[in-house]
Amino acid sequence: CGIVGYVGSGAPSARPEGVVMAGLARLEYRGYDSAGLAVVTEDPTHVDMAKKAGKLVNLGKELAEHPLRPGTAAIGHTRWATHGAPTDANAHPHLAADGRIAIIHNGIIENYSPLRAELRSEGVRFLSDTDTEVVGHMLAREVLAGHDLVHAMRLVAARLEGAFTLLAVDSHEPRVVVGARRNSPLVVGLGEGENFLGSDVVAFIEHTRTALELGQDEVVEITPDGVSVSDYAGNPIEREPYRIDWDS
Ligand code: GLU
Repeated sequence: CGIVGYVGSGAPSARPEGVVMAGLARLEYRGYDSAGLAVVTEDPTHVDMAKKAGKLVNLGKELAEHPLRPGTAAIGHTRWATHGAPTDANAHPHLAADGRIAIIHNGIIENYSPLRAELRSEGVRFLSDTDTEVVGHMLAREVLAGHDLVHAMRLVAARLEGAFTLLAVDSHEPRVVVGARRNSPLVVGLGEGENFLGSDVVAFIEHTRTALELGQDEVVEITPDGVSVSDYAGNPIEREPYRIDWDS
């Protein structure tokens, strides 16, 4: 029920992981049954990932016992299960392309069943019972065909029905986080040499008070010093940043 994304220009460090864990803690009040995060490192073969059913402290324990490598970007998720029991395997992120791609999702993909059948017929093996996992494999198909992640997200989001806030990372693009939305919120937090994504501004309120809201059926790519928004067809969209009104 919460989503956080972060990318910064510093050396690979614990910061992306820390920003995402703090953001998830800020979103805890919304309720959730599992939590997880993926960290992009400078290793192009795969992202690092940890996920656990239950409260964030379980995920924290898992990270303490099995630390992830220093990151350049990260995405984090708290889940409120709609498809598939609240287990470790069904928690997000979901990986695809042998761990090259990680995806997180709030909402429901209404047409996941025909999409899953299509992917299965191409030989894809599913590791969860979620509606979400199809999205990872669809993105994998596009990046393996040579598209960059943001282009892949446009192609995939256009084929999805239902409600979604989606974030994805690709280990081949270590300083990029991509998001998409339909019938579910996604906000960008603008920093200095770093940028944030959240399902709500509380996810990054400790770091910036400047934000930009994504409209219906839009895709965003954040890098440490850039934010670009487009529609699913790839037409650029200009969005005016606003000042978050927040006491404390
Ligand atoms: N439908 C997805 C699932 O059951 C996402 C649920 C959510 O919004 O957290 O895994």
